[in-house]
Amino acid sequence: MSDRPLLMIPGPVEVSPEVLAAAAAPPPGHLAPGLVEAFARCLRAMRTVWGADASAVPMLVPGSGTIAMEMAVCNLLAPGDQALVVNSGFFSSRMAEMVRRRGARVEQVTADPGAHPEVDEIDQRLGRLSAAGDAAKVLFATHVDTSTAVRVDAQRLAEVGRKHGALVVFDGVCATAGERLEMSAWGADLVLTASQKVLGTAPGVALLMLSEKAMDARRRLGSPPPLCLDFLSWLPIMNAYEAGEKAYFSTPPTSLIMGLDASFEAMTRDLDGWFDRHERIGHAMRAVWKSIGLEIIPASEEIAANTLSAVRYPDGVDATLCAKIAARGVVVAPGLHPKMADRYFRVGHMGDVLFHPAKLRRTIEAICGGLGDAGYSVDVGAALDAFDSAAANESVQ
Ligand code: PMP
Repeated sequence: MSDRPLLMIPGPVEVSPEVLAAAAAPPPGHLAPGLVEAFARCLRAMRTVWGADASAVPMLVPGSGTIAMEMAVCNLLAPGDQALVVNSGFFSSRMAEMVRRRGARVEQVTADPGAHPEVDEIDQRLGRLSAAGDAAKVLFATHVDTSTAVRVDAQRLAEVGRKHGALVVFDGVCATAGERLEMSAWGADLVLTASQKVLGTAPGVALLMLSEKAMDARRRLGSPPPLCLDFLSWLPIMNAYEAGEKAYFSTPPTSLIMGLDASFEAMTRDLDGWFDRHERIGHAMRAVWKSIGLEIIPASEEIAANTLSAVRYPDGVDATLCAKIAARGVVVAPGLHPKMADRYFRVGHMGDVLFHPAKLRRTIEAICGGLGDAGYSVDVGAALDAFDSAAANESVQ
């Protein structure tokens, strides 16, 4: 076992040696030719990974996932506007709070932890708002809720959002590049994420893809957002970089852009294989939990995310489990949903680590060992067999 703990939380995640080397070089200037080229490649790769057509606008700005969420809210909503939030957990509630602070009005459709609101319910709620002359301008949803590992049906939500004339926004922080997405074909208007999750780079870059309709909505907005969050501040910069020209509004995180470029390069070499790997490993990790008698938080396999697992503590085991696993050299995360944070733990399985089965096996061994230390003995051999056979329908070398 190496001395460095393995970081298996749902972001930040393990970073590949190629990304690390690219980001660890002396920071380039924001106008340096190498940076401009890397920036342009990242913006182009974003279109491919998001499934976005040529009319969409990719943006890479300094910041976190939360900043990307704030940009979505304050560029699309003015005070007084109506929004609907599909609340599937912790981060959907954050989105609703941002809408409120913008002075806009928010309705929420909620679900029990481990479930998500049904699409038909969203359809009906949007219909009722329209019938009352108060149509929702924006429909927000969290593609994968990191607090419960629940994935919503983004394609169907986009469909009902469009049907009712709402802009459709997905927080893809724990999903984008790990869960399949066809942003333009599905008709979504904004999908955002951050660099430290599936994109496998250090935290610090917020990434957004906007439809033409989203950009138009910003142009028509009566109440401009703060300058540094304004799509219109960044649009000419993104246009210039994508055309291979230098530009300046506010200094981008140049080292992180170099890292992202390396990450996108690896991902887009075989994007279908990359998504497939996320599906297969997600499934294999769930097979592991089942083989050792643990239950997952998502109510069904169908809505369980591929990028992380949220796993209930078995009887007799409590939140000290994470420390026991950490003592075995693997860092996993405790629960996060406010209604039940002390009842489960979370394991990230996204990005480059999926191409290193030895690290995944080390994670499984540490979790099984930690469970044993907590008094819940499991058969680690059975867990590893479950992983291997579920992961093996193609070589996971
Ligand atoms: N949304 C989701 C779904 C997330 O998982 C996170 C981070 N865990 C965020 C938003 C916020 O991102 P950040 O921590 O980069 O601000």
